[in-house]
Amino acid sequence: MADNDDWRLQGQDLVLKGKTLYWRQYKAYSDKWKHDHCAFCFEEFNENDSPDTLHEGYTTEDNYHWVCRECFDTFKNLFEWEVGF
Ligand SMILES: [Zn+2]
Repeated sequence: MADNDDWRLQGQDLVLKGKTLYWRQYKAYSDKWKHDHCAFCFEEFNENDSPDTLHEGYTTEDNYHWVCRECFDTFKNLFEWEVGF
């Protein structure tokens, strides 16, 4: 269960609250980037197939913000996310 004192909460509600998120294979938002981090816990998403990184996650429609499955489950009620298809 999430609460407002969770260390992972650092103002993400400004950009992520009430958004529709899509479960996708990780793809960098820009050609200049090869990886990204979960918006909450900073777990790494990467396009390579390293076993130490994530390759799928929840993302905003533009692939800009990424959220790992664990953080999605923790914060989905607090952030009122919808899941898009
Ligand atoms: Zn996370």
